Amino acid sequence: MARTARLLAAEDPPPPPAAAAERPRPAAAGSGLRSLSSAASGLWDRLSVLGAGVSKLEKALGDHFPEGERYFGLENFGNTCYCNSVLQALYHCIPFREQLLEYYATYKNTEDSEDNLLTCLADLFAQITLAKKRTGVLAPKRFVQRVRKQNELFRSYMHQDAHEFWNFLVNDIIDILEEDCRTANSSPETTPEEVSNGAANALANGARERPLVTLVHRTFQGILTNETKCLMCDTITAKDETFFDLSIDVEQNSSLTSCLKSFFSTEILNGEDKFFCDKCSSLQEAHKRMKIKKAPHVLVIHLKRFKYVEQLSRHKKLSYRVVYPLELKLGSMSEDADCEYSLFAVVVHVGSSPNHGHYVSQIKSHGNWLSFDDDTVQISEESTLQTFYGSSREHCGGNTDHGYILFYERLGGKS
Ligand SMILES: [Zn+2]
Repeated sequence: MARTARLLAAEDPPPPPAAAAERPRPAAAGSGLRSLSSAASGLWDRLSVLGAGVSKLEKALGDHFPEGERYFGLENFGNTCYCNSVLQALYHCIPFREQLLEYYATYKNTEDSEDNLLTCLADLFAQITLAKKRTGVLAPKRFVQRVRKQNELFRSYMHQDAHEFWNFLVNDIIDILEEDCRTANSSPETTPEEVSNGAANALANGARERPLVTLVHRTFQGILTNETKCLMCDTITAKDETFFDLSIDVEQNSSLTSCLKSFFSTEILNGEDKFFCDKCSSLQEAHKRMKIKKAPHVLVIHLKRFKYVEQLSRHKKLSYRVVYPLELKLGSMSEDADCEYSLFAVVVHVGSSPNHGHYVSQIKSHGNWLSFDDDTVQISEESTLQTFYGSSREHCGGNTDHGYILFYERLGGKS
């Protein structure tokens, strides 16, 4: 880490705070109106890749360029930054990348493999990994076309929600792998396995049945347990549900840990909300709380910054200041209290409204923080993350870049 800090200080200047300025992307205008500096620097990267063979980023990283690693910017096809920012976070989620490349190797060998979102994603990852150059720009055209074909929501050229995209992608990949499993049964990815300590309960409680353990489950799935304690007879009723990310409410001038604590806090069920206790055979007051029963390998946290305001009949962006730590301890929120995570990617929403703006991602790779802004990849600094916490006062203008989706990897091996 110390080495990295020195390297960063000595080399390329971090992206200027001006990157914080809002870059509205009018519908259908596409990448044409993006900030000139960003376009120019993307062009520079491309020219340098074609020219001298050593990009600005390679120069900046010098001897510290991680062996075998590739840093590729992704071209924007008209407001596709929601997609690019999530793709970069996924590519730099090493356990996910490795499994997806294994999948790529498997399906490439099967003859009649049809194009779908997963094969397009695997192709894109392979294209980056197998690139001769260590840096450059790729056009995720096939993938984006596939997303648009598959989901009406993403067909327009309007600003989209990166979290909705994440949800769609994760669920679609699972659907594809389940379908793969139904039609064939030879690939290692599609070997039926039971979901460890969860499937049976999930089934019993009528939660969504997921009989397969796919690469998505292995990487992102956790299990929540919902405990309701009847205050009359003290009986605890538990229900489990699986999750691929936690969507949490944000509070002004708070921290991720305190927002998580509210999410997992005890709720009192009384008055109209009494709980039907099977043992008492009647409605009773109860305490309800959630806990993480099985912590995922990679914990994805979505900060609910886009809030529907009834008086306005529309969504509003909450620019609340929410400090997120580099190392996150779940403590009493998890049944495994020693569960610790390290932050490796932040998808940042830039802009003051839910309907406009831009997404970029900050990613930690081999100890270096990098900033991915569509086709531009630059060295960044750990301290830059602090500029995405939010504003302590509303309507104070200025910085509109806010941490929106956080990716934490579990420390100390597999869960
Ligand atoms: Zn009871």
